[in-house]
Amino acid sequence: MGTNWSSRLLAAATVAPLIRWLVAADSVPSGTGRRATCDACGAPFGLDGPLRTLSPLARCGACRQRIGAPPLTVELALVAVAVVLILADRSALETVAFAWWALCAVPLLFVDLAVHRLPDRLTYAAAGGTVVLLGLAALVGGTGTADDPAPGGGAWLRALLAGAAVASLFVASTLLLGRRGFGLGDAKLVLSSAAVLGWLGWPMVAFGLMVAFAAAALTSVVLLATHRVQWSGHLPFGPFLILGSVVALALT
Ligand SMILES: [Zn+2]
Repeated sequence: MGTNWSSRLLAAATVAPLIRWLVAADSVPSGTGRRATCDACGAPFGLDGPLRTLSPLARCGACRQRIGAPPLTVELALVAVAVVLILADRSALETVAFAWWALCAVPLLFVDLAVHRLPDRLTYAAAGGTVVLLGLAALVGGTGTADDPAPGGGAWLRALLAGAAVASLFVASTLLLGRRGFGLGDAKLVLSSAAVLGWLGWPMVAFGLMVAFAAAALTSVVLLATHRVQWSGHLPFGPFLILGSVVALALT
């Protein structure tokens, strides 16, 4: 158990600069290229640039301007993911699949909060990688017990169906309601977040989506009550979808 905790927390610390770089690069308005330099002084940042910029302090290494996700937030999110994966206590391949999904979901969460966008390369990477890795986990299976059988092809099929079905509902809402429906980015994100829920079982699909909608509704009420947003204010839904799947993972 000790090595489990320390190795996963170490892994979370190691990937933090990479996730910070993804967030800073992609937190740009739609139609603009990815950010490669500090907005204030033009100094390059990235894994090949000054790494100081990608530290938990979230400041440009050259001019100290704030850059990317707020200080310590990405790091705390990754530690939370590591703790959830330890609590979930799944087989090695399932854990790899869920970790892959989470490593796409964390930057998506911060980019959506910053600029209300869910970049395709992250939503597609999440969907493709999660489905392939869960497929491998289904193939290898494992032994399991009579009471708690190892997830196999059935779980994988359920994951595929859940992702496709919920994404279709989201696309339908976009077609029917236009801007008042879900965004297409949400539909692409839900391909993977609902697949994670589907792997855990149909009740978890319902539970995870319920958590997402309840948290979004509660947040809207709080923001309205504190006059942080107007009625027309559009709340990004991606972070709540991610929250729903993470809570389901932690509880199963
Ligand atoms: Zn700078």
